[in-house]
Amino acid sequence: MVTGQDQRGRPAVSQDRQSLEQQQSQPQQFASDNYAGICPEAWAAMAEANEGSAVAYGDDDWTHRASDAFRALFQTNCEVFFAFNGTAANSLALASLCQSYHSVICAASAHVETDECGAPEFFSNGSKLLVATTDGGKLTPDAVLALATGRSDIHYPKPRAVTITQPTETGQVYTLDEIAALSATCRDLGLRLHMDGARFANACAALGCSPAEMTWKVGVDVLCFGGTKNGMAVGEAILFFDRALALDFDYRCKQAGQLASKMRFLSAPWVGVLESGAWLRNAAHGNACARRLAAAIADVSGIEPMFPVEANAVFLRAPEAVLQGLRENGWRFYTFIGGGARFMFAWDADLARVDQLAADIRAIAA
Ligand SMILES: *Cc1c(COP(=O)(O)O)cnc(C)c1O
Repeated sequence: MVTGQDQRGRPAVSQDRQSLEQQQSQPQQFASDNYAGICPEAWAAMAEANEGSAVAYGDDDWTHRASDAFRALFQTNCEVFFAFNGTAANSLALASLCQSYHSVICAASAHVETDECGAPEFFSNGSKLLVATTDGGKLTPDAVLALATGRSDIHYPKPRAVTITQPTETGQVYTLDEIAALSATCRDLGLRLHMDGARFANACAALGCSPAEMTWKVGVDVLCFGGTKNGMAVGEAILFFDRALALDFDYRCKQAGQLASKMRFLSAPWVGVLESGAWLRNAAHGNACARRLAAAIADVSGIEPMFPVEANAVFLRAPEAVLQGLRENGWRFYTFIGGGARFMFAWDADLARVDQLAADIRAIAA
C-alpha cells in the first residue's frame, strides 16, 4: 500500500506494483527539481555510450570529451572531476582546501550546513563550518570579515575557505559584483572561494552571463556544477580553476567511494547537455516557470512570495489552511526549507501544470 512519501520525498514503506503504477501516472509535482526525469540530450548520450565497451575508471573517450567540453564552456584549462552527488562533490572539494584544523565560512542556510549530514566535516576529518546569519541567505564581505577575523588565537579553527551557493537554497542569485567583492575579501584574508553550484546553470540563465564570468573571472577557485538538478540521472562535476588545488583530488574521490568504474555513464550525459546547449535551455525553462507561477499569483491576497524569484524556486508564505487545502488537492511541496511552501521547476516543468497550480492557489486562497 502506498502511504505517500515523507517530507524529504523518501518513499514510505512497501509499494505493491499496482499502486506504484498509479503513483507514476499521477500528475507532475513541483516539490523538488529532483522529481524530474532525465532530459533527452542526457539520455541520448547515455544510450550512445552504451554501445560496446570502453576503458574503465575514467580513461575513456566520453570522460575526456566531457572534461574538454567543460574546458571549452569555461574558456579555461581547468581540472575536471566527476562525483555521484552534490554532497560528495561539495564535501570533497572543501576537504581538498582544508587541513583538519581549518574552518570554512558559509551561510546559515547553506546546504553544506543544513543538508549534508556533516559530510563536509567528515570528509575533511573535522574542518569546522563557521556559520554566518545574513539576510536572504547570501554571504557578504562583512560577514566573512567578521567571522574570519573575530578570533585569531590557537584555540579557534583557522579560517581557510568560504563557500557560497549560487543560486542560494532559497533561489537568490549572487550578482557578479557580489561574487567579485567576496573573492576580493577572500584574497585579502588568504581564504579560498568555493561555489556550490547545484543549480549553477539556473544562475547562468538568470544573469545571462557566461560560466567563466561567474567563476574564475571573479575569483572562484573551485566550482561544484550540478548535473542532477539540470536534467541528468546522477552526477556533479568538480572544477578546479586553480589547478594546483586539484593535486591528489583523484585519490580523495576514490577513497570516498566516488570513482565510478563505468565512468562513461557519469560523463556521457555531460557531453549530451554541454555540447547541445541543453544545460542552459533546461535551466532557462525552469527559471521561466518560476517567474510564470510568481506572476500568476502576484495579486492573490494572503499569499506572499518569501524571497525574490530569481532562479527556479518560488517560496510562498500562506495561511496554514491554504497550504492544507493545496495538500488536499494533491499538491506536494516542502516546508522545511525557509518555512512556507517551496515549489521548484525543472527542465521538464509542464506549463499547463504550472498554470493549474496557480489556479488552485488562487481558488483555495479565495
Ligand atoms: C541538491 C543540492 C545539493 C546536492 O545534493 P545531493 O542530494 O547530495 O546531490 C547541493 N547543494 C544544494 C544547494 C542543493 O540544492
